[in-house]
Order: sequence, then structure tokens, then C-alpha cells
Amino acid sequence: MEQTVARMEAFIREGVPKYISVINANKLWLMEKDPRVGQVVRGASLFVPEKAIVMGLHAVGLGTAHHVGGIMLLKAFLPRAEERGYRLYFLGAKPGVVEEMIFVLRQSYPKLQIVGSRHGYLLPDDGAATKEIMQLRPDVLFVAMGTPRQEFWIAEHVRHLGVPVCMGVGGSFDVLAGIKKDTPNWIRALAMEWFYRLVQDPKNLWRRYLTTIPWFLRKVIHARTEKLFHGLRYGRD
Ligand code: UDP
Repeated sequence: MEQTVARMEAFIREGVPKYISVINANKLWLMEKDPRVGQVVRGASLFVPEKAIVMGLHAVGLGTAHHVGGIMLLKAFLPRAEERGYRLYFLGAKPGVVEEMIFVLRQSYPKLQIVGSRHGYLLPDDGAATKEIMQLRPDVLFVAMGTPRQEFWIAEHVRHLGVPVCMGVGGSFDVLAGIKKDTPNWIRALAMEWFYRLVQDPKNLWRRYLTTIPWFLRKVIHARTEKLFHGLRYGRD
């Protein structure tokens, strides 16, 4: 986490527009299903893996990644942003939610430089958000419009916005505003965040998890089996 925050700060110093992609099983599934998602996610300058991905990587012998989720990174960045005076812009969630979140954040971080915010229900030809962001010149732009909407939005606008760090953070504003409950860390550590979210919002999430979790497990098992066979064959050669 500390390295990731340091990398964000390096991006701010460089001042060249970049974006960070949080990777979870759902996003990997979407990347396979829709090549446009694959393209925009692969265009990121930094990938941060959620717990299931870290466990999957360990299972196939690539155990170097650490768990850094979207909301975890956002929360870890806030005290640094306050300390260093980074300029933040928050785009996303329903009207009223982002304002509520900012109210909550100001209780903990009174000196946080929030230069602007806007809800995430933009009309297709609505240029007001991009115009405002370009004028306000934030250092970091957090976009919470859900996956893959936020990824498409970021990829389309990142260059001309000129913001050094853009990052899609899914439903984080709802959590920070207190509308949805944050996943306890011990549940995250068990890679059960999906279950916690499912219980809170079964109507919208059951289909997602029923599809992506078995798909992801199959992928990991397949990769592990391939590796095993490769090892055996390599051993024989
Ligand atoms: N949202 C938005 N604009 C839209 C659709 C959704 O800002 O056009 C917001 C929505 O209000 C919620 C977030 O995007 O705050 C989606 O949260 P979710 O937990 O579904 O994110 P995901 O898990 O898909 O990344």
C-alpha cells in the first residue's frame, strides 16, 4: 500500500496524465468478454490487485503481488493528500451522495483540498464535467461510476483532462458517504468481500458473482494444471 501511494505521488510529480486500474475477478471476466474493456484496462500505468487476484497469482506461483483494493487505496491516500495539499476531484455516485461523502471526509481531514465534485449520472454529450475538471486542474481524479462505465470514461478523457492520476473506485463513494457498509478487513483478508457485498445488495449482484466466481476459479485451476504439466514435461525433457 505504501509503495502504491508513493507511486501515485510520483505520478503527480511527473504531471503526465495516467490512470490506475484496480483488478478483481469481475474485471478480468469483463476483459475477456469485451475486448474494449481489456484494451482500456491494459492501458493503465499501474494495476492494483484485489485479494482474490492475489490468491490466484499465488496459486499459479506468481506470489509477488499484494492486496490493494480501490477503496483501501483511496482511504490510504487521503491523509497523504491532506498532508501534502494535493488537489482532489471526486466524480461519481448518485446526486447528493458525493456531497455527503465530502461532508464526512471533512470531519476526518479538515484540510483536505477538494477542488470539485460532481455526481456520476452524466448525459452522453455532457461536457460540463470535463470542462470543470480541466479548469480546476486537480492532481487526482477519483471516478466512481461502476465497472466498466468508469473505465471507459477515464480512457476517453484522461489525455485531454491533463490530470496526473485518474482512478476508478466503483461504489466507494457510497461506502464513504455511509450509505453502504464497508467490508471489514478480516472478511477482505479471506477474499470474501464479494459475499459481504452480495448480502447487502443481492438483487443487483447475484448474477455477477454467480458468473464471475466459478469462471475465475476455473481459470486459476486451468493455469495451475498447465503449470503442473509444463513442470512434468520440462522435468522429462
Ligand atoms: N453510478 C454512477 N453513474 C452511473 C451509474 C452508476 O455514478 O451512470 C454509480 C452508482 O451510483 C454507484 C457506483 O456508480 O455509486 C457503482 O457502484 P458499484 O458498487 O456497482 O461499482 P462496481 O462494483 O461495479 O465497480
